[in-house]
Amino acid sequence: MPLPRADGCVFCRIIEGTLPSIKLYEDAETIAFMDIKPFSEGHCLAVTKGHWPDISSIPAEAMAAAARTAHRVGNAVLKATGADGLNLLQANGTAANQTVFHLHIHMIPRRHGDGGIKSWAAAQPVEDPKSLEPIAAAIRAALG
Ligand SMILES: [Zn+2]
Repeated sequence: MPLPRADGCVFCRIIEGTLPSIKLYEDAETIAFMDIKPFSEGHCLAVTKGHWPDISSIPAEAMAAAARTAHRVGNAVLKATGADGLNLLQANGTAANQTVFHLHIHMIPRRHGDGGIKSWAAAQPVEDPKSLEPIAAAIRAALG
């Protein structure tokens, strides 16, 4: 059975390759790439290849695949960034600050004293996505 997709969804377009991304990892069910509106250096996303908006719609097996990728890539992010901690964050619905309605898990490196995760609305896109390449290369290397 083909995976669900949605016209106009930015993550579906990234998965199809019609929108660029700085890819870190890919398997049959998931993809991981850099977040271009990072809260901290190394902030990236684990995304299911199928388009399911949230935990209400996604099959448990697909959610588990996203969690496996967040586990694998998240550990590489910790290693590559040398961060003190890492938040895995998955939002469902506008009340929870979900902005892209295609299920994804944020991996957000944290430091002692970093002041916490700032307001979602305050996150700004990086001026040049290429500036994320060095940390992306380090994460890929840490994935082995
Ligand atoms: Zn989608």
